[in-house]
Amino acid sequence: MKTWYDSRVIKIEEQTPTTKRFWVEVEGVDSFAFKAGQFVTMDLPIGERRRQRWRSYSIANAPDGTKVLEFCIVRLEGGAGTTYFFEEVGTGTPIRFKGPAGSFVLPEKIEQELVFICTGTGVAPFRSMIHDLHNRGEDGHSIHLIFGTRFNENILYQKEFAELAEKMPGFRYDICLSRESELLPCLPSGLSFGLRKGYVHPVYLEQYKEVKPGRLFYLCGWKEMIDEAVANLTKKLGYDRKQVKYELYG
Ligand SMILES: Cc1cc2nc3c(=O)[nH]c(=O)nc-3n(C[C@H](O)[C@H](O)[C@H](O)COP(=O)(O)OP(=O)(O)OC[C@H]3O[C@@H](n4cnc5c(N)ncnc54)[C@H](O)[C@@H]3O)c2cc1C
Repeated sequence: MKTWYDSRVIKIEEQTPTTKRFWVEVEGVDSFAFKAGQFVTMDLPIGERRRQRWRSYSIANAPDGTKVLEFCIVRLEGGAGTTYFFEEVGTGTPIRFKGPAGSFVLPEKIEQELVFICTGTGVAPFRSMIHDLHNRGEDGHSIHLIFGTRFNENILYQKEFAELAEKMPGFRYDICLSRESELLPCLPSGLSFGLRKGYVHPVYLEQYKEVKPGRLFYLCGWKEMIDEAVANLTKKLGYDRKQVKYELYG
């Protein structure tokens, strides 16, 4: 049985036209312990029965000994939870949640090459993990983030990841835009990343077709992307199922 915590929203920032960052401060604790990649389940005032009210969100920041958590939430038209977040939640709104939960975390000792594949806000657990690795001085560790979204304006944490790639020699970042007709160079000069049109799938199919045992794939996002990526990695390329971990958003 997980503990329930009370928290309060302390800051909100619009990140893209459909995505906001929410920061909450947990009450009654000095620090909130969790592992990078974990999520919490919130009890939102959007229904009578608890199953109608509960929504899970990945913690987007790295564990740092504080009691502040960040969430990165995309608005879903007609979605009860996200409509509440976008229309009613403001600074000072109380949020009750239980957690942390989930086994979508990095191994204790990381010896494998890490490939993170995500779409949209599925980037949240990877942002937590990448910052965690940086905070632990694992800058040389091989990490490849493949991030998919529709348009230029939907790219999340772009400048931050480009800056991390400068500090972390082992970290590479690819952005795949599935509906964009024009790729815009929108970073200050000196910061770079791979930007391409299309889905995330051709990137790993091309770059990881030679199967290696010391490689771990982490996938996060919505069902369609996860189902396709799991099938591609295990059936098409022949990776062992144990080398593929995923967190399904719905
Ligand atoms: C472990 C876990 C972690 C999660 N972390 C995050 C997170 O960090 N950020 C985040 O934005 N969401 C996250 N989600 C999704 C989140 O829990 C909600 O499902 C989402 O916010 C929609 O809630 P809603 O009440 O607005 O929509 P609902 O009314 O519950 O949604 C209606 C239906 O639409 C589907 N759906 C919802 N959103 C999408 C979408 N974008 N694309 C396709 N189908 C969709 C749902 O599966 C559901 O069937 C996570 C889910 C899980 C299980």
